Parts: sequence; C-alpha cells; structure tokens
Amino acid sequence: MLNRPNPSSLAALTSNSRCSRYERGGSRCHRPTRRADGWCGTCAGFRRPQKPTDPVVPCPAAPSTREPVTAATDRLPLTSDEAHDPQLGVTRSAIERYCATHGGDRATAEAEIRSLLENLIATGTHQRVEGGAWRLLAREGFSLLLSADANRVLGYSTAHRDRTYGQVKAGVPSRSRSRSGHRRDKGWVLALQDGLPVRFTTLVLRRFARDVLGTEFTRSTGKKVVEAAYSRSTHVQPDPPSNHAGRRRATDEAGLRWHFAYEPGERPAVIHLSWEPGCGPQAAAQEGGS
Ligand SMILES: [Zn+2]
Repeated sequence: MLNRPNPSSLAALTSNSRCSRYERGGSRCHRPTRRADGWCGTCAGFRRPQKPTDPVVPCPAAPSTREPVTAATDRLPLTSDEAHDPQLGVTRSAIERYCATHGGDRATAEAEIRSLLENLIATGTHQRVEGGAWRLLAREGFSLLLSADANRVLGYSTAHRDRTYGQVKAGVPSRSRSRSGHRRDKGWVLALQDGLPVRFTTLVLRRFARDVLGTEFTRSTGKKVVEAAYSRSTHVQPDPPSNHAGRRRATDEAGLRWHFAYEPGERPAVIHLSWEPGCGPQAAAQEGGS
C-alpha cells in the first residue's frame, strides 16, 4: 500500500533539475529548481499544458461532505513533522486521485500529499467522521481522509479541478472559468461592489432593480441598487458549504429566493434571483388583472 519514490524519480529531484511545470498559456517552464516538488515557484506551476476538460469523478475513498461528523473538537494526534514519517502510509487510491486531478507522477503526488498534510495538521479543520476516520480540511478547498488510527492517508479531495494546494497558496489564478460568472461582469459593476462581503452578478442586479425597486440597473442607479441588494441579502445568510465550494439557496420573507455560489478564496456570490410561486411582481400583476 505504501508508495515510496523510486530511484528514477529521486534522480529527478536532485539539484540542477529543471522545472517541469507549465505556464498559464501552456508553454513549458525549464527554469532551474532545487525544490522537492520540481516546481521553480516562479512560473504558474501547472503540471499539464492545458486545463482538464473531463468532468471531475468523485473518488470513492475521498472525504464526503455527507458523512456525518461525530466530533469536531478533536485534533488528529500527529505533529506536522510526522506527515513526512515513512511509518505513515499514503494509499495508492489517494495518490491516484491526486495524479488524476493535477497530473504529474506518483512520487511528487505523494510528496505533495505529505506536504498538504503537514499544513493541515498545523492549520486545518480536524473532524472525526462516522467510523472514526479523520477528515482534515483546508479553508482553500482541499481535504484529506486518514484512517481512525492516524496511520494512513486514505483519500484526497479538492474543490479545484486543476491547481494544487501549493499553487493556490502561491496565489496562482485558476485556468477554469469562474463558476460564478465573475469574468463576465463589467469593471464598473465590480467596482460598485468593492469592499462588500458578497458579490452580485450583473443579471442579479438587473433583476433586483426591476422586480424589487421598479427601476433599471444603470450606471446612474447602480450604487443605489447595489446598496439595496446588499442590505436585503443580509437577511438571508445561508451557512456556506463545509469545503467552501458549492451552492446554497435561501428565501427571504417576501418570497425572494437568493441563490449563492461559493468558491474557495472568493467572496460568496449571488448568481441568481427567483420568486417563490405566488410572490413577486408577476404574481402581483396577475392578481391585479383578475
Ligand atoms: Zn517553473
């Protein structure tokens, strides 16, 4: 079950190595590096020239957010140094999951899982799930599952499709289009929302202006619309998903449904507004017409 670096992969980790990673645009890096993970730390550090196109398949051994947590207060009984102890095993399935998500070879996958574990022992959220297994979560959207005896890493899972923990920590931006439509919004719409703890898409602000305020969302009404939308959104604050990635929906007292999207390291975004049946301007118009 244990996977140790083989001689050829160890040779690749010695000094005078060249960075084997890729820039955002897909060009090979080749900068010199002495780091164990083979990354120079200067380029974007992607292991594959292009972002993956196939959908993410859930790993059977991966920590599931549906598994009930039995105790959230215990800490895994290991010190950070022990993440690199050869007595601690990393299962084949965890390594294969890592390679399938990020690319690269098994030896670097194991080295990076151990490095993630080292960080999670120090700074992560530790949970015990049903059956006694340990789940360690990073705020940035990475998690590891360990055996009940804390002797083996059983599973790896991440909300990111492409970037490793090391890349996310280093601030390398995603190559995937944001799920919450960030890049489609114009600069002035984003600027209106600077400093807010949530973000609204242009479509949401248009709909809110029309349905709630009875106005248009324009540059001149924009500030007022954003303030009103933000103020009303504070009445519906759903609990974010535990891995900080996913969707939540909440309905306010007037029957307006707020659809929130979460991404690790980003503010929550309101990506859609809808009305409960019988609520909103549509319902009011029908009532008036009958
Ligand atoms: Zn590089």
